[in-house]
Order: sequence, then structure tokens, then C-alpha cells
Amino acid sequence: MVVFCSTGCGSTAVLKRPKTDDALCKNCFFWAFETEVHHTITSTKMFQPGQLVAIGASGGKDSTVLAYVLKHLNEKYNYGLKLVLLSIDEGITGYRDDSLESVKRNQEEYNIPLTVLSYKDLYGWTMDDIVKQVGRKNNCTFCGVFRRQALDRGAMLLKCDIIATGHNADDVAETILMNLLRGDIARLQRCTFHITGSDGSLPRVKPFKYAYEKEIVLYAYFKKLDYFATECVYAPDAYRGHARALVKDLEALRSTSIIDIIHAGEQLAIKDGVKLPKQGLCSSCGYVSSNIICKACVLLEGLNRGRPKLAIGKSNKALAELLAERLQNAASIKTTIQDQF
Ligand code: SF4
Repeated sequence: MVVFCSTGCGSTAVLKRPKTDDALCKNCFFWAFETEVHHTITSTKMFQPGQLVAIGASGGKDSTVLAYVLKHLNEKYNYGLKLVLLSIDEGITGYRDDSLESVKRNQEEYNIPLTVLSYKDLYGWTMDDIVKQVGRKNNCTFCGVFRRQALDRGAMLLKCDIIATGHNADDVAETILMNLLRGDIARLQRCTFHITGSDGSLPRVKPFKYAYEKEIVLYAYFKKLDYFATECVYAPDAYRGHARALVKDLEALRSTSIIDIIHAGEQLAIKDGVKLPKQGLCSSCGYVSSNIICKACVLLEGLNRGRPKLAIGKSNKALAELLAERLQNAASIKTTIQDQF
């Protein structure tokens, strides 16, 4: 039986929209998807005309669709943005090297300049080397902390005004649940903001905040976009994996579950008097941090000392050790200087 597009355009429907269950033809689906992203961008005043936007490009479906749609909307609605692609090469053989090839093809096809920064250049370690040291249990902790900082560093190097990432509605719903389950009030509040980032780091935006992962896949499929679909060769973060499974189960029960979680997260308010960590600058690298030394520097120090697990988890043991050692060094320098004069 032929099913017609529910918009009444007269075309045959080719898909059922995961977000609304509407039967749509290809063109009406493209229109609905792009119009919703445009609405997210304009209703939240995400960008200002003239801004240089770094698109975090991994070569995966989300960032590939983001680059394509942002370029399209920028031209269609005259946002006045300049776009650049920024890729971080974590040094994961058989994964990132292949996905970067997709980004390079997108760079040519979309005519958007590309810059690639590597963990090896920034931190002296590849993820392959880190996994050899820490094993496959905590590798994503290193990778996530380093990538966040690397994107910021790269975008600042390129003199960008803002970073756009391909995080989608499923990612945001997972993050809300994870922060809720961990009782991480500060992150729970921040993760639903339209624009994140504070003094010392660039603002970040998620134009796909309300776009379902399944719709991004459908969009890429029907537009025949060139992206890299393979998962990372290292096991994904176990805790996020549980939150992801929960979100998928809820979505299967009711398709609006993902948006419902996001809307619920946006309504949460922190009561007066709750103490939140203050953001400052890392005394070692100058990057934004809520501790005297940022997590990336502590993780790196653990790696360089051959004690990579020191900085894993919530314990401040590594930080305390590092500070004690630095104070000791400062004291011995002071003694040496006093001895000399
Ligand atoms: Fe990095 Fe983990 Fe993601 Fe692989 S799964 S890219 S190691 S954060």
C-alpha cells in the first residue's frame, strides 16, 4: 500500500520520522530537519553575524551532517558566518586515521578549510600509547579530557569566536541522566545550556541539541553524505554506555522520551545556597579549571611519571601529591637562593 507524505505535498512517504512518527517524503523530511535546526540556532541567538565558527569535525555522522547543514543554512538564511573544520587526531590506529580521511573529503566537497591537531603534538602521547599504559578501562577519561581542551586550544589558535559540536539530542539526554545519577549538580545545570564555556575558554554550542540521532542518520543516508560509521576500537565509556542503553529503551517505549528528558533537564533549578565549584585558570597551563591545576595537566603528569592511574576517579590524591611536590620544589629553590646570598 502506498503511503503519502503526511504534509499533503502529494509525494510518496519514504520514512516515518523517529521524533514525531509522521510519514514523510524525502524533501519534506529535509525541510523539517533543517527548519528545526534553524529554529534552534535563531531562537537561542546561537551565533552573531561575522563570527568565525570552528566546527568540531570527527568524520562521524553527527559532525559531517553538522558541517553540511551549517553551510547550507548559513547560505540560505545569510547568517554571515565564516566556517572552519577543526579535527582532533587522538592517535587511534584503525579508527581516527580512517575517519580523518572522511573529514578531508568533506573539506574538499564543502569547501571549508580544515585544521588537524594531534594529541601527540599537544600532549606528547597518542591514545594508542595511553591505552598501553592504562588499559581499556579508563582510556575514555583521558581521551575526553584531552579532546575538550584540544578543541579549545585549536579554535583559539585559529582565532575562532565559537565552537560548534555535533552533539545531538540523544547525547544531551544521556548526559543529563549521567549527571543526575552521579549527583553532579554543576554539570547537570551546565549541560542543558544553549551556550556553554566560561572565562578562559571559548563558547560552545550544539545546533543539534534537539535533533534525534536516528534523524541525523536518516538525513545523512538520504543526502548520501560521506561519513565514517565505525565505532572507536577502544571500548566506549562504560558509564555512558548504561545511560545510552536507558535512553534507547525509553525511546522505544515512547518516541518523545528524549525531548522530554531534555526539557525536564532545562527546567531543573539549583536552590539558593548550594555551593558550586568556581571556575579559575590552571596554574600550570592557563586553561580554564575549577582546581588549581586542571584535570588535563594532572592526567598528563600521571602519565609522564609512569603512574597513569593516580589521577583517575574523583579522588584529589593526584592533585594533592602534585601540589605537595611543587611546594617542596619551591621551598628548596628558596633555600638555595637564600644560601647563595
Ligand atoms: Fe576516545 Fe573513548 Fe571515544 Fe574512543 S570511545 S574516541 S577512546 S572517548
